[in-house]
Amino acid sequence: MKLIVGNWKMFPQTLDEAKVIFSAHKKSVKRLTRAKMVVCPPSLFIEPIAKTEKGKRSIEIGAQNAFYEDEGARTGEISPLQIRSVGATYVILGHSERRALGETDEVIAKKAIQANKAKLTVILCVGEKKRDEAGTYFNEVREQMRKSLTGFPSDAVKRLVIAYEPIWAIGANAIRPATPHDFHEMSILIKRHLVEQFGKTAGFKVPILYGGSVDEKNAEGFLKEGAADGLLIGRLSLDAERFGTILKLADKLS
Ligand code: PEP
Repeated sequence: MKLIVGNWKMFPQTLDEAKVIFSAHKKSVKRLTRAKMVVCPPSLFIEPIAKTEKGKRSIEIGAQNAFYEDEGARTGEISPLQIRSVGATYVILGHSERRALGETDEVIAKKAIQANKAKLTVILCVGEKKRDEAGTYFNEVREQMRKSLTGFPSDAVKRLVIAYEPIWAIGANAIRPATPHDFHEMSILIKRHLVEQFGKTAGFKVPILYGGSVDEKNAEGFLKEGAADGLLIGRLSLDAERFGTILKLADKLS
């Protein structure tokens, strides 16, 4: 089963627009038999979107962030339990756009532990800022994995997904998308860490997604040649037609 996650970031501007995009995504999902879609809209839109969903197969809703406590004097924060209570089952943590705002691996680790307590599946994002000849970016990702998963319980590993998103490949300022080979190489390192931390059986089962300038032309390469378990898609997940093409492709390759 391939997992296709749409990260809507801080788009669209209104709930009405969000509903239109989501209902188009639902039409695409109707035709799927094996792939699964997770849509991560802005938090305010989670409940109204999840409500139209009513537990249909192959669709899950996720949040783009969550705090590391379930309640308290934390102005502006949203807790995993609150997210869960309005119908989301996934949460993206450690996205590079949040890391750029100062979020550290240590904070991400606390968030992952708390999100798991609320039974949210954690999509942990890791990825290097840039690549260099000496290959120090491997260490950067290795350290992110080690620190961000500190204390994550072994028995919760079934609710863990890793998204490898090299920062240089994400968003409108991307230099270029990574190649399937770039992904595959890094996924081996990520898997090695997962096996070391959680053991062979559990570690091998954790899905590893690719994210960064995915479109309907390069998606197949990551899923087939790169052997990605799925994709984390930003900008293109707001375009229902193009996102639908990727869902169809992922279903075929699942
Ligand atoms: C993302 O936001 O996680 C992402 C991968 O963005 P984009 O697909 O727009 O590069």
